Amino acid sequence: TIELKQISKQFKDNKIINELNLSIQAGEFLVLLGPSGCGKSTTLRMIAGLEEPTTGDVLINGKKLKQIDEDGHTVAMVFQDYALYPNMTVYQNLEYALKVHKIPVQSRRSRIEAVLKILNLTNYKNRLPSQLSGGQKQRVAVGRGMVKKSKIFLLDEPLSNIDIQLREKARDEIQNMHLENRQTIVYVTHDQLEAMALGDRIAVMDQGIIQMIDTPENIYNKPTNLFVAKFI
Ligand code: ATP
Ligand code: MG
Repeated sequence: TIELKQISKQFKDNKIINELNLSIQAGEFLVLLGPSGCGKSTTLRMIAGLEEPTTGDVLINGKKLKQIDEDGHTVAMVFQDYALYPNMTVYQNLEYALKVHKIPVQSRRSRIEAVLKILNLTNYKNRLPSQLSGGQKQRVAVGRGMVKKSKIFLLDEPLSNIDIQLREKARDEIQNMHLENRQTIVYVTHDQLEAMALGDRIAVMDQGIIQMIDTPENIYNKPTNLFVAKFI
């Protein structure tokens, strides 16, 4: 379970997140949906422990994030700007975290090859990020998260730069991965259709506040306020 309790985040005078409460169940696929600048990435970074809330707490299974780090690695994140290691090949980018966590070479290789195949990246595995297109880089970023098989998987607009055919396939693969491994997923997007297709629940966000959180059906059929109705 991930719990955000009365989270606020302020950059200088600018209040980005405003007393946000959110509870995500273990194994749930939660989509965070909202317009550009509403605070989605900031929220995700706070869940990952990469950004500290100004006030409020993030609890994972009842523990604060700092305690989590000591228990070992539980979170994988796909960054909106990919954040690949520039001096490593595609293969090495996928391998790095597995190496750090001392996964044996054999199972490392089979996991990586499987993910490369799923994401149509096998032919690119020896390239450096600088030799890839934007969509290819984005797929590497998704793959790097997938190979880790973390209990918690955070994805920040992971398909935004991938062309439409491959996007549907990648979306299906993310869904399959979730069905197989039952990770807790927090998936950020500003694409309504993607949110509808993927989410167990959708949290619609605007101006640092969650405007409504419910199943896709209820968000679509029974929006509780004007913003949600217009946005959907
Ligand atoms: P997008 O869909 O465009 O990625 P977002 O919902 O992910 O948007 P955030 O990146 O969370 O939005 O940013 C929310 C607001 O916080 C924006 O107005 C942004 O300019 C501001 N912001 C984010 N990070 C910082 C920072 N480090 N310093 C100052 N302002 C920031
Ligand atoms: Mg963002």
